[in-house]
Amino acid sequence: MAEETLRRKREAVITINTAWCKGCVICVELCPERVLVMESGKAKVADLEKCTVCGLCELRCPDFAITVVDKNKTEKAGE
Ligand code: SF4
Ligand code: SF4
Repeated sequence: MAEETLRRKREAVITINTAWCKGCVICVELCPERVLVMESGKAKVADLEKCTVCGLCELRCPDFAITVVDKNKTEKAGE
């Protein structure tokens, strides 16, 4: 019997507000996929492809400096 794979592709959009980022490294250490790195004392996206949009980094950033959305989800609702 044919097997159907219903797996919607996630397309992460990560926004880091470097003005708010104080370089605490929490997001870098928490990310299970090692998407984020530090550069010049600020968080930076190193490997967007690996992001699963789990939201951990956004949830745990004490300064609300990072947001992650699934592009495929937002496009449905917006513009
Ligand atoms: S958790 Fe927030 S403040 Fe800390 S390094 Fe990451 S983006 Fe910057
Ligand atoms: S949403 Fe999850 S996988 Fe993506 S950068 Fe944040 S912690 Fe890493």
